[in-house]
Amino acid sequence: MTKKIAVLPGDGIGPEIVAEAVKVLKALQLKGLDIELEYGLIGGAAYDETGSPLPKETLAIADDADAILLGAVGGYKWESLDISVRPEKGLLGIRSELNLFANLRPAILYPQLADASSLKAEIVSGLDIMIVRELTGGIYFGKPRGIRTLPSGEKEGFNTLVYRESEVIRIGKVAFDIARKRQGRVCSVDKANVLESTELWRETMINLSKDFSDIELSHMYVDNAAMQLVREPKQFDVMVTTNMFGDILSDCASMLTGSIGMLPSASLDENSKGMYEPIHGSAPDIAGKNTANPLATILSVAMMLRYSLDEGEIADMVETAVSVVLDQGYRTADIFSEGMKLIGTVEMGDAVVAVLNSNDR
Ligand code: NAD
Repeated sequence: MTKKIAVLPGDGIGPEIVAEAVKVLKALQLKGLDIELEYGLIGGAAYDETGSPLPKETLAIADDADAILLGAVGGYKWESLDISVRPEKGLLGIRSELNLFANLRPAILYPQLADASSLKAEIVSGLDIMIVRELTGGIYFGKPRGIRTLPSGEKEGFNTLVYRESEVIRIGKVAFDIARKRQGRVCSVDKANVLESTELWRETMINLSKDFSDIELSHMYVDNAAMQLVREPKQFDVMVTTNMFGDILSDCASMLTGSIGMLPSASLDENSKGMYEPIHGSAPDIAGKNTANPLATILSVAMMLRYSLDEGEIADMVETAVSVVLDQGYRTADIFSEGMKLIGTVEMGDAVVAVLNSNDR
């Protein structure tokens, strides 16, 4: 049956990198992958056209799709808008409307890029961590929230960090299941020494682990986890954590791999429907210059094929094609090093498609 893919390019470099990922999807379509694409507006681009960062039409397209490919949202142009209509609201909105509670963020170091990492090659070579971030709860969604004026006239900003047992259990299960297909180790990251909500998180993870006796569960405070990620990152297999801690730790892990432009992500619901996007933002500083690295978005397509379209073999093909392109020495500016061939966004997409097509010969 034809699988529907909603394509939401968004803002900044979003349309550029998504165009390259779509090129890959179309190449796979020519090889027999049965998909159809439908485009929608999101973020600042949607606000400009409709007054909303997440128009109803976009939500309907996403709801109807088997998987969603997203570029990125946000940019200087919309920074002064009210928070309720800022581009990021579109992203948070689609995640919560579609109940995409599990964010999978792999941090894998391609051996070809060991020198691009800011850490010594021996600390990062062979790195393969999966960060599982809770995505629809925690402090980004908790209520009450806002900015109020105190009787003294001083303003006060406030947010709420709240987690229910059921939310921890469902994200915990995802982490344990993934660990089963990897090295069998889960490190749960919290701040249980000062935050009651994460004290409950830890307690719930310990109870849940009784159903996963084959998996080794450890716990770490988030400040230590940040330190360990740069000290000895290879100690980790699967890390599972809250929305905000996962946001920060996964960006930190991304730098271990050399570039934020290399890392894909998946956000899944309970039925493996997912939204796939690079972990980076809309990079307004380089938008429209044909310099953005499209590989994170192309690797997001590979995750889509594996987790939502049940096409593991084709996912492997895409990942291998990316690796071959790196072997060929092609680099966008963010991962460029001496002796390599510097190319642009479009050329990188072309290079991946060329490798995919060369497999036919
Ligand atoms: P960013 O990830 O957009 O950029 C950080 C740095 O990394 C910049 O120097 C940028 O040029 C570079 N970079 C990012 N992606 C790259 C790529 N593919 N190739 C090469 N270099 C790349 O983060 P930021 O600058 O903090 O945020 C910019 C905007 O993006 C903001 O409006 C922010 O709210 C938004 N944002 C959106 C998402 C999302 O859509 N998921 C995530 C994070 C930030």
